[in-house]
Amino acid sequence: MQDALHRLLEVQDHDTALDQLRHRRDHHPLLQELGVVEAQLSEIGVRRREVQATLTELATRQSELEGQADAAGQRVATIEKRLYSGEVAAARDLQAMSEEADHLKARRRELEDHVLEVMEEREPVDAVAAGLDGEIASLEARAAELRAALNRAVAEIEEEITTQLAARDVSGIPEDLLARYERLRQRLGGTGIARLEHGTCQGCHLTLSATELDQIRRAAPDTVVTCEQCGRILVRD
Ligand SMILES: [Zn+2]
Repeated sequence: MQDALHRLLEVQDHDTALDQLRHRRDHHPLLQELGVVEAQLSEIGVRRREVQATLTELATRQSELEGQADAAGQRVATIEKRLYSGEVAAARDLQAMSEEADHLKARRRELEDHVLEVMEEREPVDAVAAGLDGEIASLEARAAELRAALNRAVAEIEEEITTQLAARDVSGIPEDLLARYERLRQRLGGTGIARLEHGTCQGCHLTLSATELDQIRRAAPDTVVTCEQCGRILVRD
Protein backbone atom coordinates (compact mmCIF):
# COMPACT_ATOMS: atom_id res chain seq x y z
CA MET A 1 0.00 0.00 0.00
CA GLN A 2 2.84 2.39 0.84
CA ASP A 3 4.21 1.87 -2.66
CA ALA A 4 0.81 2.61 -4.20
CA LEU A 5 0.55 5.76 -2.09
CA HIS A 6 3.93 6.95 -3.27
CA ARG A 7 2.91 6.32 -6.83
CA LEU A 8 -0.30 8.25 -6.20
CA LEU A 9 1.78 11.11 -4.84
CA GLU A 10 3.60 11.19 -8.18
CA VAL A 11 0.26 11.18 -9.99
CA GLN A 12 -0.69 14.13 -7.80
CA ASP A 13 2.42 16.00 -8.94
CA HIS A 14 1.45 15.47 -12.57
CA ASP A 15 -2.19 16.42 -11.90
CA THR A 16 -1.08 19.61 -10.15
CA ALA A 17 1.16 20.46 -13.09
CA LEU A 18 -1.69 19.68 -15.51
CA ASP A 19 -4.11 21.88 -13.56
CA GLN A 20 -1.61 24.74 -13.66
CA LEU A 21 -0.97 24.26 -17.39
CA ARG A 22 -4.70 24.19 -18.21
CA HIS A 23 -5.25 27.28 -16.08
CA ARG A 24 -2.38 29.06 -17.85
CA ARG A 25 -3.85 28.06 -21.22
CA ASP A 26 -7.42 29.13 -20.37
CA HIS A 27 -6.47 32.39 -18.62
CA HIS A 28 -3.59 33.44 -20.80
CA PRO A 29 -2.80 37.19 -20.58
CA LEU A 30 -2.84 37.33 -24.40
CA LEU A 31 -6.44 36.13 -24.29
CA GLN A 32 -7.38 39.12 -22.14
CA GLU A 33 -5.42 41.48 -24.35
CA LEU A 34 -7.16 40.07 -27.42
CA GLY A 35 -10.51 40.51 -25.67
CA VAL A 36 -9.77 44.21 -25.10
CA VAL A 37 -8.85 44.72 -28.78
CA GLU A 38 -11.95 42.82 -29.92
CA ALA A 39 -14.16 44.96 -27.67
CA GLN A 40 -12.57 48.11 -29.14
CA LEU A 41 -13.18 46.75 -32.64
CA SER A 42 -16.82 46.06 -31.98
CA GLU A 43 -17.30 49.51 -30.41
CA ILE A 44 -15.61 51.25 -33.34
CA GLY A 45 -17.61 49.07 -35.75
CA VAL A 46 -20.85 50.46 -34.31
CA ARG A 47 -19.57 54.02 -34.83
CA ARG A 48 -18.43 53.18 -38.36
CA ARG A 49 -21.89 51.81 -39.25
CA GLU A 50 -23.53 54.96 -37.88
CA VAL A 51 -21.23 57.12 -40.03
CA GLN A 52 -21.98 54.87 -43.02
CA ALA A 53 -25.72 55.40 -42.50
CA THR A 54 -25.17 59.18 -42.63
CA LEU A 55 -23.03 58.82 -45.77
CA THR A 56 -25.66 56.67 -47.48
CA GLU A 57 -28.35 59.20 -46.60
CA LEU A 58 -26.26 62.06 -48.04
CA ALA A 59 -25.46 60.08 -51.19
CA THR A 60 -29.16 59.36 -51.72
CA ARG A 61 -29.99 63.05 -51.26
CA GLN A 62 -27.22 64.02 -53.69
CA SER A 63 -28.35 61.62 -56.41
CA GLU A 64 -31.98 62.73 -55.99
CA LEU A 65 -30.95 66.37 -56.44
CA GLU A 66 -28.75 65.47 -59.42
CA GLY A 67 -31.66 63.56 -60.97
CA GLN A 68 -33.96 66.56 -60.52
CA ALA A 69 -31.34 68.93 -61.97
CA ASP A 70 -30.89 66.60 -64.99
CA ALA A 71 -34.64 66.41 -65.53
CA ALA A 72 -34.89 70.22 -65.47
CA GLY A 73 -31.99 70.42 -67.96
CA GLN A 74 -33.65 67.94 -70.30
CA ARG A 75 -36.91 69.89 -70.22
CA VAL A 76 -35.00 73.08 -71.01
CA ALA A 77 -33.39 71.33 -73.99
CA THR A 78 -36.77 70.09 -75.24
CA ILE A 79 -38.36 73.53 -74.89
CA GLU A 80 -35.44 75.31 -76.57
CA LYS A 81 -35.47 72.79 -79.42
CA ARG A 82 -39.13 73.61 -80.10
CA LEU A 83 -38.53 77.29 -79.48
CA TYR A 84 -35.94 77.49 -82.27
CA SER A 85 -37.53 74.93 -84.58
CA GLY A 86 -39.83 77.43 -86.19
CA GLU A 87 -42.83 75.16 -85.47
CA VAL A 88 -44.25 77.64 -82.97
CA ALA A 89 -45.22 80.92 -84.57
CA ALA A 90 -47.50 82.72 -82.12
CA ALA A 91 -45.55 85.37 -80.19
CA ARG A 92 -47.54 84.66 -77.02
CA ASP A 93 -46.62 80.97 -77.12
CA LEU A 94 -43.00 81.78 -77.81
CA GLN A 95 -42.97 84.18 -74.87
CA ALA A 96 -44.51 81.58 -72.56
CA MET A 97 -42.05 78.92 -73.66
CA SER A 98 -39.11 81.25 -73.18
CA GLU A 99 -40.29 82.13 -69.66
CA GLU A 100 -40.75 78.45 -68.86
CA ALA A 101 -37.18 77.75 -70.04
CA ASP A 102 -35.80 80.59 -67.91
CA HIS A 103 -37.71 79.35 -64.92
CA LEU A 104 -36.39 75.82 -65.40
CA LYS A 105 -32.82 77.07 -65.81
CA ALA A 106 -33.09 78.96 -62.52
CA ARG A 107 -34.50 75.84 -60.87
CA ARG A 108 -31.64 73.74 -62.24
CA ARG A 109 -29.02 76.18 -60.87
CA GLU A 110 -30.75 76.08 -57.50
CA LEU A 111 -30.68 72.27 -57.51
CA GLU A 112 -27.01 72.24 -58.51
CA ASP A 113 -26.25 74.57 -55.60
CA HIS A 114 -27.96 72.09 -53.30
CA VAL A 115 -25.84 69.29 -54.79
CA LEU A 116 -22.71 71.30 -53.90
CA GLU A 117 -24.04 71.87 -50.37
CA VAL A 118 -24.59 68.14 -49.90
CA MET A 119 -21.08 67.42 -51.22
CA GLU A 120 -19.65 69.92 -48.75
CA GLU A 121 -21.67 68.32 -45.98
CA ARG A 122 -20.22 64.93 -46.96
CA GLU A 123 -16.57 65.99 -46.80
CA PRO A 124 -16.11 65.97 -42.99
CA VAL A 125 -18.19 62.79 -42.68
CA ASP A 126 -15.97 61.12 -45.30
CA ALA A 127 -12.95 62.20 -43.26
CA VAL A 128 -14.42 60.68 -40.08
CA ALA A 129 -15.15 57.44 -41.98
CA ALA A 130 -11.58 57.33 -43.32
CA GLY A 131 -10.22 57.93 -39.81
CA LEU A 132 -12.34 55.11 -38.39
CA ASP A 133 -11.30 52.78 -41.24
CA GLY A 134 -7.67 53.48 -40.36
CA GLU A 135 -8.28 52.70 -36.69
CA ILE A 136 -10.15 49.52 -37.60
CA ALA A 137 -7.32 48.38 -39.86
CA SER A 138 -4.67 48.87 -37.18
CA LEU A 139 -6.83 47.21 -34.52
CA GLU A 140 -7.44 44.26 -36.84
CA ALA A 141 -3.72 43.95 -37.47
CA ARG A 142 -3.12 44.01 -33.70
CA ALA A 143 -5.82 41.36 -33.16
CA ALA A 144 -4.25 39.15 -35.83
CA GLU A 145 -0.83 39.51 -34.14
CA LEU A 146 -2.31 38.65 -30.76
CA ARG A 147 -4.18 35.64 -32.16
CA ALA A 148 -0.98 34.33 -33.75
CA ALA A 149 1.00 34.84 -30.51
CA LEU A 150 -1.78 33.24 -28.49
CA ASN A 151 -1.89 30.22 -30.82
CA ARG A 152 1.87 29.77 -30.42
CA ALA A 153 1.64 30.06 -26.64
CA VAL A 154 -1.28 27.62 -26.46
CA ALA A 155 0.53 25.14 -28.72
CA GLU A 156 3.52 25.23 -26.35
CA ILE A 157 1.29 24.66 -23.33
CA GLU A 158 -0.53 21.83 -25.11
CA GLU A 159 2.84 20.21 -25.75
CA GLU A 160 3.67 20.38 -22.03
CA ILE A 161 0.22 18.95 -21.25
CA THR A 162 0.90 16.02 -23.59
CA THR A 163 4.24 15.42 -21.86
CA GLN A 164 2.64 15.48 -18.43
CA LEU A 165 -0.18 13.16 -19.53
CA ALA A 166 2.34 10.70 -20.96
CA ALA A 167 4.28 10.71 -17.68
CA ARG A 168 1.16 10.33 -15.51
CA ASP A 169 1.18 6.62 -14.64
CA VAL A 170 -1.62 5.12 -12.56
CA SER A 171 -0.53 1.49 -12.93
CA GLY A 172 -0.21 -0.31 -9.62
CA ILE A 173 -2.64 2.02 -7.87
CA PRO A 174 -5.83 0.25 -6.70
CA GLU A 175 -8.94 1.59 -8.45
CA ASP A 176 -10.83 2.42 -5.28
CA LEU A 177 -7.86 4.42 -3.98
CA LEU A 178 -7.65 6.29 -7.27
CA ALA A 179 -11.40 7.02 -7.21
CA ARG A 180 -11.11 8.27 -3.63
CA TYR A 181 -8.20 10.48 -4.64
CA GLU A 182 -10.19 11.94 -7.57
CA ARG A 183 -13.16 12.72 -5.29
CA LEU A 184 -10.88 14.47 -2.78
CA ARG A 185 -9.18 16.38 -5.57
CA GLN A 186 -12.51 17.67 -6.84
CA ARG A 187 -13.61 18.71 -3.39
CA LEU A 188 -10.30 20.15 -2.16
CA GLY A 189 -9.02 22.41 -4.91
CA GLY A 190 -7.03 19.83 -6.83
CA THR A 191 -5.02 18.18 -4.05
CA GLY A 192 -6.22 14.79 -2.87
CA ILE A 193 -3.07 13.36 -1.36
CA ALA A 194 -0.29 14.99 0.68
CA ARG A 195 2.85 14.12 2.55
CA LEU A 196 2.94 14.15 6.30
CA GLU A 197 6.17 15.93 7.08
CA HIS A 198 7.39 16.61 10.63
CA GLY A 199 3.85 16.18 11.90
CA THR A 200 2.41 18.66 9.40
CA CYS A 201 -0.04 17.82 6.62
CA GLN A 202 1.41 19.29 3.43
CA GLY A 203 -2.12 19.55 2.02
CA CYS A 204 -3.59 21.97 4.55
CA HIS A 205 -0.33 22.89 6.34
CA LEU A 206 -1.80 22.24 9.76
CA THR A 207 0.13 20.35 12.41
CA LEU A 208 -1.53 17.21 13.62
CA SER A 209 -2.08 16.66 17.31
CA ALA A 210 0.18 14.28 19.20
CA THR A 211 -2.73 11.88 19.60
CA GLU A 212 -3.42 11.87 15.88
CA LEU A 213 0.24 11.40 15.07
CA ASP A 214 0.40 8.55 17.50
CA GLN A 215 -2.64 6.89 15.91
CA ILE A 216 -1.13 7.27 12.46
CA ARG A 217 2.15 5.84 13.63
CA ARG A 218 0.39 2.83 15.09
CA ALA A 219 -1.78 2.24 11.99
CA ALA A 220 -1.03 -0.88 10.00
CA PRO A 221 1.22 -0.21 6.95
CA ASP A 222 -1.56 -1.17 4.52
CA THR A 223 -4.06 1.28 6.03
CA VAL A 224 -4.81 4.49 4.23
CA VAL A 225 -4.65 7.31 6.75
CA THR A 226 -6.15 10.72 6.23
CA CYS A 227 -5.63 14.19 7.67
CA GLU A 228 -8.22 14.92 10.35
CA GLN A 229 -8.25 18.60 9.43
CA CYS A 230 -8.69 18.50 5.64
CA GLY A 231 -9.52 14.88 4.87
CA ARG A 232 -6.70 14.37 2.38
CA ILE A 233 -4.94 11.04 2.06
CA LEU A 234 -1.66 11.22 3.95
CA VAL A 235 1.63 9.65 3.01
CA ARG A 236 3.79 8.97 6.03
CA ASP A 237 7.45 9.80 5.86
ZN1 LIG B 1 -4.53 18.33 5.97
